[in-house]
Amino acid sequence: RIGTQVVDRKVDSVCPFCGVGCLITYNVKDEQIVSVDGRDGPANHSRLCVKGRFGYDYVHHDQRLTKPLIRKPGIAKNDEEAPQPSHWSEVFREATWEEALDFTAGKLKGLRDQHGRKSLAGFGSAKGSNEEAYLFQKLVRTGFGSNNVDHCTRLCHASSVAALLEGVGSGAVSNQVNDVEHADLILVIGSNPTANHPVAATWMKNAAKKGTKIVLADPRVTDIGKHAWRIMQFKPDTDVAMLNAMIHTVIEEGLADLDFIRSRASNFEALKENVRGYSPEAMEPICGIPAQTIREVARAFAKAKGAMILWGMGVSQHVHGTDNARCLIALCSVTGQIGKPGSGLHPLRGQNNVQGASDAGLIPMMYPNYQRVDNEQARGWFENFWGMQLDDQPGYTVVEIMHKALAPDSDPHKIRGMYIMGENPAMSDPDLNHARHALASLEHLVVQDIFMTETAWLADVVLPASAWPEKTGTVSNTDRMVQLGRRALTPPGDAKPDLWIIQEIARRIGLDWNYAGEESGVAAVYDEMRQAMHAAIEGITWERLERESSVTYPCLSESDPGQPTVFVERFPTADGRVKLVPADIIPANERPDAEFPYVLITGRQLEHWHTGSMTRRATVLDAIEPMATASMNGADIAAMGLAAGDVITVQSRRGEVAIHVRRDDGTPNGAVFIPFAYYEAAANLMTNAALDPFGKIPEFKYCAVRIKRGGKL
Ligand code: SF4
Repeated sequence: RIGTQVVDRKVDSVCPFCGVGCLITYNVKDEQIVSVDGRDGPANHSRLCVKGRFGYDYVHHDQRLTKPLIRKPGIAKNDEEAPQPSHWSEVFREATWEEALDFTAGKLKGLRDQHGRKSLAGFGSAKGSNEEAYLFQKLVRTGFGSNNVDHCTRLCHASSVAALLEGVGSGAVSNQVNDVEHADLILVIGSNPTANHPVAATWMKNAAKKGTKIVLADPRVTDIGKHAWRIMQFKPDTDVAMLNAMIHTVIEEGLADLDFIRSRASNFEALKENVRGYSPEAMEPICGIPAQTIREVARAFAKAKGAMILWGMGVSQHVHGTDNARCLIALCSVTGQIGKPGSGLHPLRGQNNVQGASDAGLIPMMYPNYQRVDNEQARGWFENFWGMQLDDQPGYTVVEIMHKALAPDSDPHKIRGMYIMGENPAMSDPDLNHARHALASLEHLVVQDIFMTETAWLADVVLPASAWPEKTGTVSNTDRMVQLGRRALTPPGDAKPDLWIIQEIARRIGLDWNYAGEESGVAAVYDEMRQAMHAAIEGITWERLERESSVTYPCLSESDPGQPTVFVERFPTADGRVKLVPADIIPANERPDAEFPYVLITGRQLEHWHTGSMTRRATVLDAIEPMATASMNGADIAAMGLAAGDVITVQSRRGEVAIHVRRDDGTPNGAVFIPFAYYEAAANLMTNAALDPFGKIPEFKYCAVRIKRGGKL
């Protein structure tokens, strides 16, 4: 019973939005979700944010795709106009599943056979389940024949993962969010947790109430700053300068944990030598933080019984994102703040399953569980496991695939066909005019999704998929918890589960797969993935998940409760030590100048999730935040003779948007913040596709723009 309403059934699942991974219960009446309750899950203890509680009715939206669609002959792919989801019939015609699957698989197979295995690529999704991610990457590796498979981790924490794998030997978090209650100090850097990980933010605020010191380090002062002991509003792009100054202070003032360094770290002398020139006094004019504050925070961090770092994409989405994360690893390591409760490294993962999709191998350089494709032993194991010879070269990443789609015909690695499952690169990629043009140029594009997204609008074939409440599967949250979501609804019309669609395409391009069992063999796929991931989730069987709903990994046996804190005795590196990697200042790829004097920072907001395809179709969320806004400091707004609510035009060298201005004094002078969820003012039209060389992540957090008064909305 919900209020006075009696529901037909209650179904336990996981929130489909962010990486916090709140456990929920869907209340279903007359085949509609009528409300959502928070469950007592380990990450949320019944708490939910506005998205989790109210963002569910997108599943019942009348724009859901319910039939397979094939582009009508002669209808060009228009990469300049907005998609018209309700006018899809002007562009596409309905088809049966047989026809659509035969057609699309035939096209992909034809391109592979004519142009070679490098001519195809696939984007999977961090919004899908682990089983879907595993099967999708297996399809690309064994069916398409290359490692050209990636997903939006490339756009979020790829650089953090690159630094973590290099430094500590594992790309996942060392400690779970709830561990903040055991910390004396938590450093929140490059993250706006109240908006992006709202329930995680509540644990931080609770800890602060009990005396934990929060330090917010960010060019934007966001809500969590109200709870902070110190705020370090450093100048955009100067992370390395500020963090090296903190490490300098720790070493210079004799606060380094030399026992830890001697027994558990390598390369300390090189790090020490590198930070010698980064005194807080020398860095103050560069990063804009008083030297005294840098020293004070560094001392508090080093002296704390437990100090923990939680970071977001403000750290990772730079051309020096890997260097930023290297500095965080070094700071924790030289102070011995890792491998114990209330300490450690926590890159707050964005999407609900970005951790799991990466673990499952949905990345171009690694098989499941981060086994490198160019490692002969790892490749041999998977060739034996999958019964097929595999490509020995890492594939292209998200942005590289877009470049390769526009390569000349003579390029043997030109991408000609793509399969995109549940991602929306026509909104999420940097430099959208280029990305949309690349998608429109493909000889064949098949998109599997629940709505006619901006990417689907450019497809040759659109396959109607299932929303999260319509299927059973597992997802892995930011805390390394594998969690089970259960099917609450039947997909609308002829929409099908993603797992079924992947297998039907696989069969048609010649793969002999047989996953028997309910719901397209989801339990059998999970079991195969568990074997492919070796020891990591050995103890997390499907049956155990059905009983317990959530289990933390590493988990080595069925009686193992899982390890919430890792690196307690050794790091999973070759020598068991954390590798300290020195980093120097590398400026942003595109700096402001006289022509483009402002810095554009992009990101998310509380009510809308990523490219908005779900949340902008959720009634409550859309009612709260119905339109795009550009946040600017009050002083900048006044200096331009504007008032909050006025229309401005923001232009970069690549594109422009007209948008209402919003006053936000937490946005630094000389910068403008725009969320990337809105097609009508797509922030990524302006962003720069320059990449971090290690993580291959684009610089979403920094490019040069100019701002004009007025504009055509
Ligand atoms: Fe969902 Fe994240 Fe909100 Fe939890 S915090 S309810 S997982 S969006």
